[in-house]
Amino acid sequence: MIDAMKKILVVEDERELAKLLEDHLKDAGYLVTVVHDGETGLREGIAGDYQLIILDLMLPGGDGLEICRALRADPPYTPVLMLTSLSTELDRVLGLEMGADDYMTKPFSIRELVARVKAILRRVDSIERSVQAPSDSVIRIGGLSIDADRRKVVLGGKEVRLTAKEFDLLWFFASNPGRVFTRQQLLDRVWGYSFTGYSYTVNSHINQLRAKLEEDRSHPRYIETVWGVGYRFAEEKGE
Ligand code: CA
Repeated sequence: MIDAMKKILVVEDERELAKLLEDHLKDAGYLVTVVHDGETGLREGIAGDYQLIILDLMLPGGDGLEICRALRADPPYTPVLMLTSLSTELDRVLGLEMGADDYMTKPFSIRELVARVKAILRRVDSIERSVQAPSDSVIRIGGLSIDADRRKVVLGGKEVRLTAKEFDLLWFFASNPGRVFTRQQLLDRVWGYSFTGYSYTVNSHINQLRAKLEEDRSHPRYIETVWGVGYRFAEEKGE
């Protein structure tokens, strides 16, 4: 599918900003629907067939976090780009790990927002392409199973809850076992950011993944550190 056919839902109560987003996203070739309150946003997000939802955090008629959670509970998976007004709200978004694929703090540059939208859609496309063969949609290594269709991770028989980005990172790693990636490469491939200065983002996500997956974080079994270079997903032992 080409970008021109993609449908984006914008849920934003600030009318001027909503109009600005609508105009720029339409210019970029997307089909855009705008709603101004949480209740309509949730209804539309579940009923409509959107490839991406841009969701304001503070909304009349429903908190953006609640909407995001409700969307996550209702497959198929639709990527969410969250908009927040304050860095304290951003902390809340990150702290609650409610599953947004990306976030931007207001005020932001509209060009940057459009670039992030393209990056998210590219990434989702590449994951979808990589799972088109049914046998490829689940990766198993040791006691770990990663299901890309259901975005579900099971370790030792128990489901592990990952944020959207943690899942993407794990899937990318597990699809390329034994290959070493630098932080910048991971940023390019998993986040779609082509600029530097965000490598702490990679580190913090790897730390979170290890906290959830590794029995012994000082001797990680799945995500290995390659000193001075980056990270590598372990190849299955004994093969
Ligand atoms: Ca708002």
